[in-house]
Amino acid sequence: MEIAVALAEPAGVELWRLGTDELRAFARELGTTVSAIQGLQLRTITEIDRRGAAIELGAANTARWLTDVSHVSPGAASRMVQLGLALDRLPDVAAALDSGALLSEHAEVIVRVLQQLPDDLPDDGVDACRTYLLEAALAEDPQALNRRGRELLARISPDDAELTEEHAVARRELRISDCGDGLHKVTGWLDTEAAELAHSVLSPLAKPRPADDGERDTRSPAKRLGDAFVDLLGRAADHACVPGEGYARPHLTLHVRADALAAGHGPAAELTFLGPLSIAAARRLACDAEITPMTLDENGVPLDVGRTTYVVSGGLRRALIARDRGCAFPGCGRPPGWCHAHHIVHWADNGDTALSNLVLLCGHHHRVVHHHGWAVTIGDDRQPWFTPPAWIDPDGTPRPAHQRRHQPQLLSLE
Ligand SMILES: [Zn+2]
Ligand SMILES: [Zn+2]
Repeated sequence: MEIAVALAEPAGVELWRLGTDELRAFARELGTTVSAIQGLQLRTITEIDRRGAAIELGAANTARWLTDVSHVSPGAASRMVQLGLALDRLPDVAAALDSGALLSEHAEVIVRVLQQLPDDLPDDGVDACRTYLLEAALAEDPQALNRRGRELLARISPDDAELTEEHAVARRELRISDCGDGLHKVTGWLDTEAAELAHSVLSPLAKPRPADDGERDTRSPAKRLGDAFVDLLGRAADHACVPGEGYARPHLTLHVRADALAAGHGPAAELTFLGPLSIAAARRLACDAEITPMTLDENGVPLDVGRTTYVVSGGLRRALIARDRGCAFPGCGRPPGWCHAHHIVHWADNGDTALSNLVLLCGHHHRVVHHHGWAVTIGDDRQPWFTPPAWIDPDGTPRPAHQRRHQPQLLSLE
């Protein structure tokens, strides 16, 4: 198949007409063409940048313009601009990309490694490194090339590589500062290894999930990462504090008056470290907690301390997991380890701690149900049903739980 003809009208390509050998050859040729097109795209972006053609149109810079016109992410756009500029100074790497012999990912690795070479390396040393990497790029995938590049750097300047890493570890820090308006600012530095760990642990938790109205997740990547970070802390606390017990949540200590908890208003609850918290939040936290009743004197000194008990016992929690199998909120289904047992009628309002009054919800959906107007009921089928607030569904049609088990169909035989 003629590649130029195919590219002129990709939708019109009838792949079924190709024999298997021809199909493989076509796939190989397409790969080469994609690389060549990427090379051309980078040279075009570089030319636009050199002419200031994006700034002329009022864009802050070329990357910003690229984001607007091509809808690539800001990160990807600025990587493309940087790569284009770097390749402009590496004609042999650019030529290899144009010929389709390597991918833009290869070129990115080569550029990154060359930029990290020590400043005092003589020119012929830099040339030798570039040739070595380029040859490797023609034979290896980008990940293998990246490993090779790191080995090269470690060989050329072993002390540098190690020192850089150790300096980075020494600079690790995290600050959580109270901004006084209910917000706390988290800032800090991580070394590469720690950042890698953070990414690998947080990424799966930060995946988009359907929004509360069932639509696409509109949270920004930063917002998703922030939510994931909090989930992770909750999970760590669960496991660090109660080995074996699983999912109880005794790690966030909250002092609240029993009468205020039942009334839903009154004196605010108190967190150990950070002070007051709304009664509404206290009721949510109390849904699935370890409770220690105390009688205090008028000065707030405990006179009597009762037995600490879990609101939801292990056996009942297992039953709840068997029924809901994770967050029951429609469209969610996060695993049970991330979930709280929510009381449909709060125990502080004399609701039963029983399967007929409990539903498993992830931290996010527990919040949605407590604070954003969703209602939960247990239906005649003894399964949870979720009724959206009027702004999502004016008819208020209840929606079934996420992973409800399908009942075997009854066969009617004539
Ligand atoms: Zn709850
Ligand atoms: Zn959920």
